[in-house]
Amino acid sequence: MINGVAITQLAQRVGQTPFYAYDRSVIRQNIEQLRQHFGDLAHLHYAIKANPMPALVDFIAPLVDGLDVASGRELTVALNSGAPTHQISFAGPGKNETELLMALASGITINIESERELERIIDLSQQQGYLGNVAVRVNPDFELKTSGMKMGGGAQQFGIDADRVPAVVQKILAAGMNFQGFHIFTGSQNLNANAICEAHNNIYQLASELKKQCDVEIARLNIGGGLGIPYFPGETPIELAPIAENLKQLQAQYQYDFENTEIVLELGRYLVGNAGVFISSVLDIKESRGETFVVVDGGLHHHLAASGNFGQVIRKNYPLAVANKVDCKPENTVNIVGPLCTPLDLLGNKVELPQIEVNDLIVVYQSGAYGYTASPRDFLSHPAPVEVLV
Ligand code: PLP
Repeated sequence: MINGVAITQLAQRVGQTPFYAYDRSVIRQNIEQLRQHFGDLAHLHYAIKANPMPALVDFIAPLVDGLDVASGRELTVALNSGAPTHQISFAGPGKNETELLMALASGITINIESERELERIIDLSQQQGYLGNVAVRVNPDFELKTSGMKMGGGAQQFGIDADRVPAVVQKILAAGMNFQGFHIFTGSQNLNANAICEAHNNIYQLASELKKQCDVEIARLNIGGGLGIPYFPGETPIELAPIAENLKQLQAQYQYDFENTEIVLELGRYLVGNAGVFISSVLDIKESRGETFVVVDGGLHHHLAASGNFGQVIRKNYPLAVANKVDCKPENTVNIVGPLCTPLDLLGNKVELPQIEVNDLIVVYQSGAYGYTASPRDFLSHPAPVEVLV
């Protein structure tokens, strides 16, 4: 069921396969659950890179406290949602001049990723007469342990190394820009609450040191996100309670440093990942040397992550089922493959499923984040999927 609608009925309503469907009620529940734990402790931002479908961003915008964008196009989606501009931030290395001007003209906060980027922003804001709201994305000297994707610590293309930050902040202040604070994003897809707590401890300590070194007030401290969701057997949901408890302690410990500071959690996947499914239809069923291959009309070009080619080190299957046979017992071990002429186009390797027939609907769960827009849809020029918000 997707928000009360059976997938078979939904497929008729959508009128084609393959398609993605996102469930509003699940997204709302995810946000409510986060609010229960972090309500007084942190503002909640949605990183729209996880799923920038405009209708979905419009739905989420009023439920959260802000949006994070990673390109000019995402900025347009965020602005169209009606989110207040002071609650939109823009991170990402390699913002071009057009994007920087879009950001300045719309009055959002730019998370500065390099010293050259800062010089461009200063030049542009002076030429065009914009004040410029800026925060510094800091590349810390620690990393987020046990994370699916590390994005801080060591040498990185993200952010400005912590030791350079005081000089950068001085430059911002000297240019008369509106300094907003720090953005410290350490990684993504983490299921280990202890690792997140440790990263938060390090982030608070670093931010406190930087505040002293820079001698500035911090209006906003973005402590990143990193909360993962379970995809594979043996994985369990991350526990939010210990993270919230630790944040509470940190806020008491650093109350004088960050008394008037807005703390921001910036999450993508956690808000939408479990709210999405990807549905394709069975086109063919073939036997080859003792194995069964079920060929469907959706594949890696629509859902790269489910094929295991989006950052997985060892390929594992996303959870999947036959949507029109969810009550039937597994009978066969099959491989679910897409229509592309490449062995990489594999959605399910040796999965136990009920007896499959042509036109059955295969559903891939946990598909709400890094799906449609994280896939090479033009590869081999097959038709694109559609997306619906239910
Ligand atoms: N913010 C930034 C700056 C990111 O780079 C990312 C992911 O790469 C996110 C937020 C969202 O991460 P996630 O979807 O894991 O919550």
